[in-house]
Amino acid sequence: MKVKVNPLKDLMEYAGSYGFLVTLGRLLAGASALVGMVPYYLLWKILKVAIEGEALNDIKGLGIRAVVVMLLSMLIYIAALFCTHIASFHMQANMRSKLLNKVINLPMGIFDEEGTGRIRRIIVDSTAATETFVAHNLPDKAVASATPIGLAVLMLAFDYRIGIICLIPVLLGFVCMMGMMGKNMQTKMGEFMNAMEVMSNEGVEYVRGIPVVKTFGQSVFSFKRFKDSIDHFSSWAMDYTVMVRPAMVRFMTCINGIFAAIICAAYFLGRDGITPRLVLNVMYYIIITPLLTVAMTKLAYTGEQEMQVVDAIERVKSILSYEPLKESSSGKVPSDHTIEVKNISYRYPEATADAVKDLSLTIKPGSKVALVGPSGGGKTTTAQLITRFFDVSAGSISIGGVDVKDIPQKELMKLVSFVFQDSHLLKMSILENVRLSKPSATEAEVLHALEEAQCMDIIDKLPQGIHTMIGTRGTYLSGGEQQRITLARAFLKDAPILILDEATAFADPDNEAKMQAAFTKLSEKKTLIMIAHRLSTVVGADQIYVLANGTCAEQGTHNELMQQNGIYHRMYDEYNRSVAWKVGVAQ
Ligand code: ADP
Repeated sequence: MKVKVNPLKDLMEYAGSYGFLVTLGRLLAGASALVGMVPYYLLWKILKVAIEGEALNDIKGLGIRAVVVMLLSMLIYIAALFCTHIASFHMQANMRSKLLNKVINLPMGIFDEEGTGRIRRIIVDSTAATETFVAHNLPDKAVASATPIGLAVLMLAFDYRIGIICLIPVLLGFVCMMGMMGKNMQTKMGEFMNAMEVMSNEGVEYVRGIPVVKTFGQSVFSFKRFKDSIDHFSSWAMDYTVMVRPAMVRFMTCINGIFAAIICAAYFLGRDGITPRLVLNVMYYIIITPLLTVAMTKLAYTGEQEMQVVDAIERVKSILSYEPLKESSSGKVPSDHTIEVKNISYRYPEATADAVKDLSLTIKPGSKVALVGPSGGGKTTTAQLITRFFDVSAGSISIGGVDVKDIPQKELMKLVSFVFQDSHLLKMSILENVRLSKPSATEAEVLHALEEAQCMDIIDKLPQGIHTMIGTRGTYLSGGEQQRITLARAFLKDAPILILDEATAFADPDNEAKMQAAFTKLSEKKTLIMIAHRLSTVVGADQIYVLANGTCAEQGTHNELMQQNGIYHRMYDEYNRSVAWKVGVAQ
């Protein structure tokens, strides 16, 4: 969604009581530029003394005054930067905390959809771009705007005729610059940022995939999307360069053509005789006009920085515009742990088909239910909808007679434990990692949970036991071991409903046996919803739902489903064949 942005007004909202420092900083920066003009006036006087041969002793005094005023101008500029930095740090901090508060209340599914990488980039990089804008670009812009004004005054003051002739190319350059900053430019800046983002994401994907590329002897071209993103950026950059080339050439010609204007002015004014005053003024204008060129170029680039910050703010706003999960204040308490899924449908944003369609299931408290079916059938989505990763588009899900939307998020989280397939451990000790699910737990409770999750063999081999930091040198945990540690979190939390996404990736026999033992133990006296990939684990389930194309194609116990002779029967036969399959040995 495109949101309209006025960069400074938007940023000021985050400045709070420090907003005045931005204005003060800009004023001081402008003042420093004007004070910085005084030494150039003194320079004219020095040249005058030198050329017109007046009291040479004055030169030293004028020189000292020029240096002192220049230092004063620098001090004022430092004070300006000080003000804008303080304001920008507060803005950035406020912006980041607002984003983090927002992110924490977003539906969990958004993190899959948006990509955590993109959200991180917005929180870190886009807010940093706004900080650079306020702390550096705004005072620079004030300097770049005040300098041409001061210089124009100086140029008109000493010899208005040379001044006017010199200002003609400046004005033309200004017009060219305004032409460059046309409306199309902001769209182009957005395209630039998008192209950079896509290239950066694909680059990360490529680096992650290097082992695969090397193993199979492929070249970078096997990463077609990465290559495409670079090609896209390259053709975009070419088009963009060609688009701005005429305006840029005109601008550069005008502002660098001031010297030609001075020479023309000197030629015309010198026709009636070359006076020392004319020599003085021509020399002086030759010295100061490069400053005008630099100031104009800076002014052109501040426009570009402004566009970058507009894009950064748009990205920040795109996160802030997400609807958080609605928190209910109904205070309704589920009467038991029956899960009733009634005619639910869900379609991912921008998807063309429903991931789940008119699905209904009833899961009785304490029962063991398995969701099976072909990949992409909707198992994970259904499990995530029960825990409100997203809200259903149609139908309803209730626990103990209360719609999940009416159960406060904290209560819902207390009711359900979710063990993901791609379990993630944070860079902290194992004790703290497990304790995340119950911060008040004692060390003994954590140890007990680890024991129940069959993790003691892992703990025993680690140098500092449960105090070992994950991610430190020498602590390597396999994927299966990591998942067992995350299982300990679920043991510690001890929620009455357990959703397990059975891992297939770490199926070494030892790990699998331990996982199965832990799963069995964990699901005792609990309602268990298991997303099963290995059909051997679902034979004993009280109810098996076969999900295909987002709907429930079959349901029943293992024996009932085998008798139906449908999808489940076929999947079970295939599964058994794959289990019985052995690598043939040539005799
Ligand atoms: P399963 O767990 O049975 O393999 P999923 O619930 O993961 O199936 O997916 C159901 C359908 O929804 C699939 O067609 C899948 O491509 C689609 N899907 C899953 N996650 C997303 C997502 N984040 N964005 C868009 N479509 C998705």
